[in-house]
Amino acid sequence: MSDLDTFRSETRAWLEANCPPEMREPMRSESDACWGGRNWTFQSDAQRVWLEGMAERGWTVPHWPKEYGGAGLNPAEAKVLKEEMARIDARSPLTSFGISMLGPALLKFGNEDQKKRFLPEIARGEIRWCQGYSEPGAGSDLAGLQTKCEDKGDHWLVNGQKVWTSYADKADWIFCLVRTSTESKQGGISFLLFDMASPGVSTKPILLISGNSPFCETFFDDVKVPKDQVVGEVNRGWDVAKYLLGHEREMIAGMGLGGTGGTLGATLKPDDPLLRAEVAAFDVDSLAFAAMSERFFEMFKAGEAHPASPSMMKYAGTELNKRRHELVMAAGGSDALEWDSERSKNGKAARDWLRTKANSIEGGTSEVQLGIVAKHILGLPGT
Ligand SMILES: Cc1cc2nc3c(=O)[nH]c(=O)nc-3n(C[C@H](O)[C@H](O)[C@H](O)COP(=O)(O)OP(=O)(O)OC[C@H]3O[C@@H](n4cnc5c(N)ncnc54)[C@H](O)[C@@H]3O)c2cc1C
Repeated sequence: MSDLDTFRSETRAWLEANCPPEMREPMRSESDACWGGRNWTFQSDAQRVWLEGMAERGWTVPHWPKEYGGAGLNPAEAKVLKEEMARIDARSPLTSFGISMLGPALLKFGNEDQKKRFLPEIARGEIRWCQGYSEPGAGSDLAGLQTKCEDKGDHWLVNGQKVWTSYADKADWIFCLVRTSTESKQGGISFLLFDMASPGVSTKPILLISGNSPFCETFFDDVKVPKDQVVGEVNRGWDVAKYLLGHEREMIAGMGLGGTGGTLGATLKPDDPLLRAEVAAFDVDSLAFAAMSERFFEMFKAGEAHPASPSMMKYAGTELNKRRHELVMAAGGSDALEWDSERSKNGKAARDWLRTKANSIEGGTSEVQLGIVAKHILGLPGT
């Protein structure tokens, strides 16, 4: 037996023994995900046991170094763990912007104190993070952000507003882009971490068409932040921000995979021949995307992917996910539009479909991703 075979059989045995049956059932909705954090209420004992067991082994962040809460797995071992979890349909034990976005940025740009302080908490799901990038006047043109951060000697003082801050009302801490200098647009931005319970932070939820309210306007009114909570150099936060965006786009690209094992054709079985053809074409594109993703995710994790490839994958994955839900709605007919009934599981198909409309906006719009691909991959002249 090779080392990898041994690792696989041990992993399989541990997962069989420790993944509660409830955590092997498909998630019924977004609310089945475990986000962790100071104020998290576990949906069940199984959800708590699953998170604690996986975190103890470092398997919430298997490829992070052990000293920061990971398991130090190499890419081949991490892949085996993923395959073995998929084999028993195990749910992800933790959904976290800390894992998918902030963690990679801290590993690259954080100092040792920051890594030791924040990464193990992220790995154990103890602190829930939100992302303070967009502002009312700075979305696609993110570097135009105006949230002011002044050096007051022994602390920073933050004033301004963010918008579309996902789960700001539920998060414990924020990773936030602030303006520490007006001398240069990109060169005056810093990357700051602070507690959402700090005096002067307030949030106002925004209601969406789906009926949910997953994000907020976030206000900072004379918020005092300790000096040691800047990641990277002051006025060099744009480097951290861009690196993090690559990881965010990698995460969002995963939506293209759909999360189910089977093809859409096998699930929907539409009678209408034209729709059947559309579904078949979708399934072909979906398989191609899955194959491409496998290569991309491996190269990205190894730091070998083209810097603009997360934009390409984000574009392809989110447009595919939108197409998937259009087809589900088309196959469901008018029944799929049901909103409140028990039969429709509280309008799951319609709510999921409406939610996908935001996929090509969040993390940077499709138009902006196409611009990046045109410039940095195809080498076309920029504007
Ligand atoms: C579900 C969801 C969750 C989000 N979560 C967060 C979060 O947690 N934290 C956070 O900071 N932000 C978050 N956002 C905000 C998101 O990053 C922005 O909405 C996005 O970057 C677009 O910015 P904007 O909304 O200001 O649109 P604008 O930048 O005003 O764009 C308007 C339109 O103009 C187009 N456009 C703009 N510039 C160009 C260009 N150069 N070339 C071609 N077309 C262009 C865009 O494609 C778009 O169609 C979230 C958004 C959504 C929808």
